Amino acid sequence: MKIDAAVLDVRNGPLVVQQLDLQDPRADEVLVHLKATGVCHSDISVIKGDLPLPTPIVLGHEGAGVVQSVGSAVTTVKPGDHVVLTFASCGSCGQCLSGHPVYCDSSAAMNLSGTRVDGSSAWSRDGEPVFGHFVGQSSFGTHVVVHHSAAIPVDPTLPLEHLAPLGCGVQTGAGTVFNTLHPPYGSTIAVTGAGSVGLSAVMAASVLGCRQIIAVDVSESRLRLAQEVGATDVVHATGGDLTERLRQLTDGRGVNYIVDTTGLQHVVAEAFAALSVRGTLSVVGVSPAGTRIDLDPWSFLAGRTVQGNMEGDVVPSIFIPFLIDLYRQGRFPFDKLITVCHGIESLADVVKGQDSSIVKAVVTLG
Ligand SMILES: [Zn+2]
Ligand SMILES: [Zn+2]
Repeated sequence: MKIDAAVLDVRNGPLVVQQLDLQDPRADEVLVHLKATGVCHSDISVIKGDLPLPTPIVLGHEGAGVVQSVGSAVTTVKPGDHVVLTFASCGSCGQCLSGHPVYCDSSAAMNLSGTRVDGSSAWSRDGEPVFGHFVGQSSFGTHVVVHHSAAIPVDPTLPLEHLAPLGCGVQTGAGTVFNTLHPPYGSTIAVTGAGSVGLSAVMAASVLGCRQIIAVDVSESRLRLAQEVGATDVVHATGGDLTERLRQLTDGRGVNYIVDTTGLQHVVAEAFAALSVRGTLSVVGVSPAGTRIDLDPWSFLAGRTVQGNMEGDVVPSIFIPFLIDLYRQGRFPFDKLITVCHGIESLADVVKGQDSSIVKAVVTLG
């Protein structure tokens, strides 16, 4: 079928909306008519070349839409279902079977190769292949063909332009807290970087009853938003003294749990130095390849841990409906992070992302 999609033809180039051909879904795939897509930092990383993928390519990996048709082997969704799209996984390897599909043996091949596992692409232009299948999706278009594992059925009464970011940024921040840190009630937590990942971590910490939730950012407007969604304290990071300020806020003891969403070398090092005894730092911000971080090995003797994860280490078919339940109960107000931009033509401007007041841009796709 003919579709419209925003294509990146060359690294650092603009996204240009073009007509492409999209294959019918294979037996294990789903064709989705997209209604909205979030824009995530990883899309920008591919455009800049920090995350190298082949071009021309269709990016986008926070899609939401309506199932149009399904392959003969698909049983999880049917035409007409509303779906949030997320990363793809095989469902049968050891990581998938033990509840960690983001670490699937086929993860790189299914999500970051630009093709299906067999090297083919569902997209083409004038008979020449165009790369896609980005993070199991390529949602910068009117339609997409995805592996069935990437299509999560959701409540059809909720607006798809609000649900779109659940499949990457929101589940990453929330999953880091719910699945990998699981702070006990009464503990203290800090989040460096109050973007969509960081603020999702703040909301999750609030749900779990953390006593003190400290948001750190350079933007006043993001810190105000952090307080709206559950932060008890904010630190306007002006550089250099982050460790000291976090220790002051926690009566000199340091912070029990810290989520770093910045990936900035000095922020990670300063956050680590602000951990309490037996504290844990989770690094989910992506640093440029080759980055090294200085940590004092004596700190580990006090029981401190450094960890990281991708996509919040979630099982999307369980976790996304869980977040939606919390949202409906008013306990996880992720819609406050979203600014809706209208029309696929606005994607090119949105990815340039000059407006720092936008935490999470979602583009409607018609
Ligand atoms: Zn992402
Ligand atoms: Zn697998």
